[in-house]
Amino acid sequence: MALKVYINGELLPEEEAKISVFDHGLLYGDGVFEGIRSYNGRVFKLKEHIDRLYDSAKAISLKIPMNKKEIHEAVFLTLRANNLKDSYIRLVVTRGEGKLGLEPGKCKKPQIIIITDTIELYPPKLYETGIDIVTVATVRNHFEAVNPRIKCLNYMNNILAKIESLNSGATEAVMLNIDGYVAECTGQNIFIVNKKELLTPNANSGILKGITRDVVIELAKKMGLVVREEFLTRYDLYVAEECFLTGTAAEIVPVVKIDGRTVGSGKPGPITLELLERYRELIRSPEATEAAECLESGYLRP
Ligand code: PMP
Repeated sequence: MALKVYINGELLPEEEAKISVFDHGLLYGDGVFEGIRSYNGRVFKLKEHIDRLYDSAKAISLKIPMNKKEIHEAVFLTLRANNLKDSYIRLVVTRGEGKLGLEPGKCKKPQIIIITDTIELYPPKLYETGIDIVTVATVRNHFEAVNPRIKCLNYMNNILAKIESLNSGATEAVMLNIDGYVAECTGQNIFIVNKKELLTPNANSGILKGITRDVVIELAKKMGLVVREEFLTRYDLYVAEECFLTGTAAEIVPVVKIDGRTVGSGKPGPITLELLERYRELIRSPEATEAAECLESGYLRP
């Protein structure tokens, strides 16, 4: 069955789901987006994703022509139309169709697009064996350029980093910021474990403040771990006992090699595996997910 795609209130078969070549999302990468997952018909951390979408939009002076509740409804509408229970939801807001030239004011109206599909970022085997990552020469955007906190449609920085890692035979790239501190991977945040502490680059290191990152920090605290959000260097990565990446699509993926150095025993570490297990439990739990019925009854998690 062809997928149905939501565009500005309409559900269109995928072959007909098209937008103008004059859309500034295409011409200039002018727009924002979210990647969200549903598990067994319930959407994980939907409120957090929608809040972040509005923050990204505000940061680029884009006014989304729908309120948050309407976006919630549109997400469930699209999921239902596609009869998908386990899915990856791509919510995109572009600046809209305009004239050639950067000026956002020349765009008529932002376009809202929702695609629901399935996703497998890494083969399941890699969650057992772990992946190898490399630090790359491409630095993460400076926060006074396009702040990485904004989840915008221009991912060229990350794509360049991804190409570098693939060219060197590694699965994923770690970008450093202009000061040499560890920032993040191309679509994931990074964590290390050292001396029973969980460390991750702080929110101003040049990262997207991942929703999975926040969830993992909470889970780790519940496990009694000390969690520190800090400025980290490559040295910290090299001496780490464990390392893993987090993201909506990747969930929690163990890392066993960094720049050719073996992490810990060369296998996913015990804290990583425990967090992965707890994460997999949480993503299907009512307290962390939204169901369509919650919306219908007017109830949304506060
Ligand atoms: N960093 C970047 C650059 C990303 O694109 C993503 C994925 N959206 C993440 C981190 C992880 O964020 P989240 O956990 O919210 O998916």
